[in-house]
Amino acid sequence: MFKEQKERIMREVEEALKRAGRTDSVTLLAVSKTFPAESIIEAYEQGQRLFGENKIQEALDKREKLKGLKDLDLHFIGHLQTNKVKYLKDNFGLIYSVDRIPLLNEMEKHFARIDRVQDVLIQVNTANDPAKSGVSMDELPELLEAASKCGHIKVNGFTMMPPLVNEAEENRVHFARTRELMEEMKKKFTCDNIDLRILSMGMSDDFKVAVEEGSTLIRIGTALFGGRY
Ligand SMILES: *Cc1c(COP(=O)(O)O)cnc(C)c1O
Repeated sequence: MFKEQKERIMREVEEALKRAGRTDSVTLLAVSKTFPAESIIEAYEQGQRLFGENKIQEALDKREKLKGLKDLDLHFIGHLQTNKVKYLKDNFGLIYSVDRIPLLNEMEKHFARIDRVQDVLIQVNTANDPAKSGVSMDELPELLEAASKCGHIKVNGFTMMPPLVNEAEENRVHFARTRELMEEMKKKFTCDNIDLRILSMGMSDDFKVAVEEGSTLIRIGTALFGGRY
């Protein structure tokens, strides 16, 4: 089941890459939130290593149950409250939701204390959607400037959550804008710990458009595991 869905999605990704004239590749993050650890084990047995969770407690509970799966790579894709930073430790290969300076500073303190350099993405609210978190385009340079001074945070790229729409096509402009924004910032920030190369855009309903517009890491839940609710 998982394997067939993944193969279908990756075929569609290949077609989207071709349409866009891209020669690079796209990574698939399996969003396992709300699904039991057993679903992760099943997917793992079919070759999947990369999984995404959006709630700290749920992620840590699953981590504990999945200790035996050595090369499992868990990413944290949810909104992060400052008072939850202390639970991050070395649990996540990549944290997607850095979107404000107080959070960044709290994370820098935490990772300095445990002597770890944490890979993160900056979440950008490209569409200025009041229903979504993410740093506004205006405040983005200031956030990156602050990140450039953090010795225990490495910024690997951007992510975004587009507005809820009926047709994925409606969000093409936001995907395109996010890619342009990353290109602009890449020119401005050339320090060691800001290496903008991952662009995480696209979920079950809109990954084809997102890949056409430059996404390098898609986050897929329902199209892989089935309905959540
Ligand atoms: C749930 C979630 C996804 C996956 O959504 P699907 O529509 O199930 O593919 C992707 N990204 C984030 C941040 C999510 O919370």
